Amino acid sequence: MVKIGKYSVKEWWARFRHWQVTPTKLETREAFEQHECINCGESFDGAFCPYCGQSAKTSRLTLRNALSNILDVWGLGTRSMPRALWHLLFRPGHMIADYLCGHRRPYFPPFKMLFVLTATALLLSHLLPDGEAPAQPSRPVERAEVAAPPTTAGEEAVPVTPKESAEQPSMNETQRVTRIIYDMWNLAMEKIPASPAMLLLGWQFLFALSTGVFFRRSPRMGCVTFTEQFYAQVLIACQMQFLSILYMLITFSGTEGYQMNIPFRYMVAYALIDYKQLYGYGWWGTLWRSALTYALTGVLVMLLAFIVTIFVVLTM
Ligand SMILES: [Zn+2]
Repeated sequence: MVKIGKYSVKEWWARFRHWQVTPTKLETREAFEQHECINCGESFDGAFCPYCGQSAKTSRLTLRNALSNILDVWGLGTRSMPRALWHLLFRPGHMIADYLCGHRRPYFPPFKMLFVLTATALLLSHLLPDGEAPAQPSRPVERAEVAAPPTTAGEEAVPVTPKESAEQPSMNETQRVTRIIYDMWNLAMEKIPASPAMLLLGWQFLFALSTGVFFRRSPRMGCVTFTEQFYAQVLIACQMQFLSILYMLITFSGTEGYQMNIPFRYMVAYALIDYKQLYGYGWWGTLWRSALTYALTGVLVMLLAFIVTIFVVLTM
């Protein structure tokens, strides 16, 4: 038997599995330890004063607790962001199930976390060299080279632009509507600073509607409400955003924009693990439910685009 340190590989795996399914415990109860609240003088046993709510750990100000107060602001204290992210990487579905079942205190609040992560991802994609940029301009060049005969290569390239601009006034209705929607979209993205995170939330709303259809009654969670499914989706979005941050750091490139900087196949694979752990179906049950969830979300997005188009056409 191969041993790594104290345990064999199989034992390490068993320990990992055990950690995965066990909810995190923050404080071990110091039973029967008497405290006197330094705020109101109440005598009590427990972690917090039952009268005023101040922590039993509160003491005179030291550099150490000043630092921990500062860390709390940045999500590194009690409601820890690193812990939440670590768990979203290695026991995502179990962590989300814990969160929904009431284990809130160990983890950073999901909505705040999504905004922080999205801001971080945007900053990174701005700072890192563009991953897609070198590939994009090369494609039209190749096409032009293939299409144009060698003798007229120079002449062929010139008339294309006037031709296109000449066509612009006679744009048909569909192109006009598309153009307006596109402009409105760009304007919205420009004007709302938090829009990438809002957009993600919009997606999660649609995903929650779909999981509500296919994962409503599950072996692990029983009956789940829409709100719970929305929270689960927000945590999954945090996970995906964190994964795309890691992906950008590993590949040392990032594309600026409103998409996640991680290939779709990785997102799908991770979502499958999320859903399996969270809802407790087998691999096959998770697979077809996830596929239908994606399909329904796609239909909802198209429906939404259709409604927006109708709205734009009617108000023109
Ligand atoms: Zn007190």
